[in-house]
Amino acid sequence: MLNCLVRNVSFPGKDKTYDIAIHQGVIREIDSSITAEAAKELDAGGNLVVPPFVDSHFHLDAALSLGLPRFNQSGTLLEGIEIWNELKPDLKAEQVKQRAMEMLRWSIARGTLAVRTHVDVTDPSLLALDVLLEVKDEMKNWVDLQLVAFPQDGLLRTKEGKELMVRALEKGVEVVGGIPHFERTAEEGRKSISWLCSLAESHGLLVDIHCDETDDPNSRHIEHLTYETLRMGLGERVAASHLTSMHSMDNYYVSKLLPLMAESSIQAICNPLINIHLQGRHDTYPKRRGLTRVPELLNAGVNVAFGHDCVMDPWYPMGSHDMLEVAHMGGHCLQMMGTEQMNLLLEMVTTRGAEVLNLERYGIAVGNPADFVVLQAKSVMDALRLQPVRLFVFRRGEVVASTPPSTSTLNLGGETSSVDFHLKR
Ligand SMILES: [Zn+2]
Repeated sequence: MLNCLVRNVSFPGKDKTYDIAIHQGVIREIDSSITAEAAKELDAGGNLVVPPFVDSHFHLDAALSLGLPRFNQSGTLLEGIEIWNELKPDLKAEQVKQRAMEMLRWSIARGTLAVRTHVDVTDPSLLALDVLLEVKDEMKNWVDLQLVAFPQDGLLRTKEGKELMVRALEKGVEVVGGIPHFERTAEEGRKSISWLCSLAESHGLLVDIHCDETDDPNSRHIEHLTYETLRMGLGERVAASHLTSMHSMDNYYVSKLLPLMAESSIQAICNPLINIHLQGRHDTYPKRRGLTRVPELLNAGVNVAFGHDCVMDPWYPMGSHDMLEVAHMGGHCLQMMGTEQMNLLLEMVTTRGAEVLNLERYGIAVGNPADFVVLQAKSVMDALRLQPVRLFVFRRGEVVASTPPSTSTLNLGGETSSVDFHLKR
């Protein structure tokens, strides 16, 4: 007898509904009608099922620290970094852990079950890193947490930055991070990239660089990162996060850059919520949006994923770790609302994110772990438009989060009726 049978789910782009048979945490069968008996049956009501959301760029060490020790009034990246540096010496392991655990509880409720989090390794105590390694282990049954050793204050700009990076890797971090545009000079930025890539190459690790998170069109570290990715043959092991300077770059230069990026197999991460909030802050009008060129990158054959980046921290006061909110913002700021583009938006918070994280056995398929999310929506468009309730979040065949469907009741002149915000015709 099966452990669980989920009946009546819809897959994106398919007309029929399907049943999903689960046994011992693994998807055993997917078919339009499964007759086997199961210890537990659940009717999904024809609602949409998607793989768990993947957040390919997050800062769990800072999440939920909003207002500590003060709020960001200018709304700039640099004031955010200042506030973080004021908080850093006072970080207490217990509080960092409590915030991270609470954040991940929100993530799970939203169906976000894989998170790549950068962790600041320019604090000589490496306190936040130790805490997040602990959190990763304690939460591994529910969330796949991938840690990036991130030199927030600059690898070369920080005293003993290189030593701290090496120590972080020794502790078991699997991704090498960097921030070349924040080093003292462009030359130092390039040197940091070369050093970090060789380090990753020699340790067999992944790379994820905060790359050109600026409106300065002359910030071109992506070119050097692409070059090093090609030269060392690192391919899809390397991701470039943000790439906001590409928004402002000269079009002719970008026409040379895009094929180079595709050739290297480097992957790109855009953070729509944070990019639209932090970029263009030195502009009067017109104000640049600052998001990287996502449709053009995709057209060139570069894999792109979306990250949430921040939730209630020195850089961003909003958010609840809902990747559909990220996709919704991306759709607006990148003007991606064609039907095929909407499918891409969903992919960038699911399958394309899984590619960036190099996740194995991800996706709703026979033989894969039974990890998926049932949304209160019938189509991809409605999932993006409504960011609907996550009715059930499955992890290894167990329901780890559930939320009752949302309905509104109207009372118009004594006559009651319900509204569910779906188009009926
Ligand atoms: Zn970041």
